[in-house]
Amino acid sequence: MDGVFGLQYQRVPHPSYGKAKIPAYDMIRFSINIMRGCFGGCTFCSITEHEGRIIQSRSHESIINEIEDIKEKVPGFTGSISDLGGPTSNMYFLNCNDDEIQSNCRKLSCVYPTICKNLNTDHSPTTELYRKARKVQGIHNVAIASGLRYDLAVRDPEYVKELVTYHVGGYLKIAPEHSEPNTLSKMMKPGMDTYYDFKNMFDRFSREAGKKQYLIPYFIAAHPGCDDEDMLSLSLWLKNNDLKVDQVQTFYPSPMSLATAMYHSEKNPLKQITYKSDRMYIPKQTEQRKAHKTLLRYHDKENWPQLRAKLKEMGRSELIGRGKECLVAEEEAPKRQPGAKAAGHGKAQPAKGYQPVTPQAVKAKKKPSKKNASQKQKPAAKAATGAKARSAQRSRIADRIKQR
Ligand code: SF4
Repeated sequence: MDGVFGLQYQRVPHPSYGKAKIPAYDMIRFSINIMRGCFGGCTFCSITEHEGRIIQSRSHESIINEIEDIKEKVPGFTGSISDLGGPTSNMYFLNCNDDEIQSNCRKLSCVYPTICKNLNTDHSPTTELYRKARKVQGIHNVAIASGLRYDLAVRDPEYVKELVTYHVGGYLKIAPEHSEPNTLSKMMKPGMDTYYDFKNMFDRFSREAGKKQYLIPYFIAAHPGCDDEDMLSLSLWLKNNDLKVDQVQTFYPSPMSLATAMYHSEKNPLKQITYKSDRMYIPKQTEQRKAHKTLLRYHDKENWPQLRAKLKEMGRSELIGRGKECLVAEEEAPKRQPGAKAAGHGKAQPAKGYQPVTPQAVKAKKKPSKKNASQKQKPAAKAATGAKARSAQRSRIADRIKQR
């Protein structure tokens, strides 16, 4: 790792791009990758497959050299490092305690369903790295922008304190991904207990540092195995915790992930699969996927008509209304015509073009005048007159024949 990252990179886009604006470059130009790999094994993610389950970490020296390199080479650098991270910001130098066990271990994750007893969870190399980075001359801020594995972080309160006190710029991204045990078990993510533990620690250390800071939790809608009930429970959890999330994603089957295998096979590969295995519930239809996202963004007024329809379909109409426990407000009554007054508060003004219906007008409509009546012959009378004329004509012709 150190050898690769120590090569003489120019740290600017290739000259063939000219002056084109490259959004990805803006994102990474002051950011440093400190490690590779992930042992989390979340089923919707394929980083473990791409980068391996065994963490490879760069040395402190190599990372500090890169900070110096950025200072010298990157145009526009003002002394702020935007990230010291990787696939997960706090897996730096964490690995299995025993190399032999690690090489023979076939578990999909070192942290699910619980943190393996063989896993080293000492965050002190990361804490030390942060301290060294802050001391580099000309550096006034080092942010941690990569996602954090909070179930690991709570094992090392000193690390959380260092992070919260010096490296959070008001907001910290974390990824519970869901609140419900059924769906979390399909994602291979920890339960919400560790989320609360971490939140308590985060709030305490922020308070002690005299900072107002917030957690930004990420969630996934329509993950394989997640039914409407789970999604509604997550929505209510968000409401109860006063969270209005903007950054949400609807599950999308991407290459190499286990959740994609669930999506296509409708079976659960986390269990042994036989021809008798139960089918998994997969929210595949566009309408279902939209509804799940709508539940996640319950606060967005644009979603309210769909949300009301979904709640009615689920038999949960009690969640529509103004009450504290409601998820969405009821539909507003149509607006009054300008100038109209509420009933019982004065005489309402007629709308433009309105013609009052008086008893005389009704009478006139029902009884046409005699003149009109004579002009207007009824169809039956008209038919009778025609028959009489035809009969008279026939008698006249018969008389003429007789005369001849
Ligand atoms: S034994 Fe535990 S810590 Fe070691 S590789 Fe396996 S799951 Fe990970």
